[in-house]
Amino acid sequence: MAQPTQRRLVQTPIPGPRSAKMQADRDGAVARGFGTVLPIFVDHASGGIIVDVDGNQLIDFAAGIAVTSVGASHPDVVRRVTEQAERFTHTCFMVTEYEGFVDVAKALNRLTPGDHEKRTALYTTGAEAVENAVKIARSATGRNAVVVLDHAYHGRTLMTMTMTAKNVPYKEGFGPFAPEVYRAPMAYAYRWPGDPDRCAEEALARLAELVESQIGAHNVAAIVAEPIQGEGGFVVPAEGFLPGVQEFARKHGIVFVADEVQTGFGRTGDLFASEHEGLVPDIVCTAKALAGGMPLSAVTGRAELMDAVDPGGLGGTYAGNPVACAAALGAIEAIERDGLVEKAQQIEAVALPRLQALAADVPAVGEARGRGAMLAIEFIEPGTKDPAPELAKQVAAHCHAEGVLVLVCGTFGNVIRLLPPLVIEPELLDDGLTVLEQGVRELA
Ligand SMILES: *Cc1c(COP(=O)(O)O)cnc(C)c1O
Repeated sequence: MAQPTQRRLVQTPIPGPRSAKMQADRDGAVARGFGTVLPIFVDHASGGIIVDVDGNQLIDFAAGIAVTSVGASHPDVVRRVTEQAERFTHTCFMVTEYEGFVDVAKALNRLTPGDHEKRTALYTTGAEAVENAVKIARSATGRNAVVVLDHAYHGRTLMTMTMTAKNVPYKEGFGPFAPEVYRAPMAYAYRWPGDPDRCAEEALARLAELVESQIGAHNVAAIVAEPIQGEGGFVVPAEGFLPGVQEFARKHGIVFVADEVQTGFGRTGDLFASEHEGLVPDIVCTAKALAGGMPLSAVTGRAELMDAVDPGGLGGTYAGNPVACAAALGAIEAIERDGLVEKAQQIEAVALPRLQALAADVPAVGEARGRGAMLAIEFIEPGTKDPAPELAKQVAAHCHAEGVLVLVCGTFGNVIRLLPPLVIEPELLDDGLTVLEQGVRELA
């Protein structure tokens, strides 16, 4: 397979005629509930470029939603996946064992924040990891309640959909929801009613009040939080909020769970976003970038919590699949050896000032935010903070037509987020940002 040149190339309308034809076929075969950001069909991809079936080369500012941080077909991942698939594809770890599962567990125990004794359980999807973190916390504490935050996204299974904040499209029509899930305010400084400088402190006080008045701290098994919120709008919690939540959890014997499914593995310029404020969560959930594009997720936590569940209580047919474990070992090797955490910092150093300049110049850009290679701009009606989702959509459509794949997110659908592969070349990053800037300036 020839590797694409690392440059943008638009030779047909996007989507082009071949993609359009495949889309018509798709519509008659695939459930309508699967939405697609950009209905192009991919032929191959590598580094920061996606090549579609019409020969267009798009700059990838999505990385399959923060998954292909090492690139879409990193040689270390491909080699290990191929070797493992030739040896065997599956045994089920609950039937007979293989070394890759143990090696990934050891890597996660070594790399996640804190030097306490840890254990890891592997699964397949991010939602499955979060759901199992809740099961483990309940088992270890003997308590039921789970506290989550406004704007949270934790997945699409019954439990994690319940924990997710946003109704449409994640929850609409899918109730009733799981019991014993409580929601506290998020320290979202830009949208905090009142003084943004007091956001962390006030949000923390409201969380404590909610727990004490509505639930009783002694009934709370876990507080689950994303260290930077993903689908909810790349909301960076006001500084001090999460350390305060962690301290509150410690004080009351509540398990503090960091959902690092989107933020983990270098994305935010630290190996884990929790490190930025020195958090040492009791449990860390990872997935997305863990295995370089193969489905794998993990729950890593304090040994005494993780081992509270008796043998047989945890598992899954495909949990920690050997091919996915091989991919993870390749991805982790690449992240460490190729300095991808530093690459994320370099992406921030280039891109964030340009997004901040947009926010300063363009009244419809309310805020630029994020860390590392997890960056976003929030669109508003000028002169207010009213969300402007239509404008976000138009800017995204402009980028797509010009061959730059960006994603929209946020509770109000008014945020454009950038999640490039960490290996993206500086020229591609620059070109993609220029397209985005032009779109914002023309359309706002
Ligand atoms: C994507 C995501 C999930 C769910 O992961 P799936 O693999 O889609 O189940 C959970 N939490 C966060 C923070 C995510 O970004």
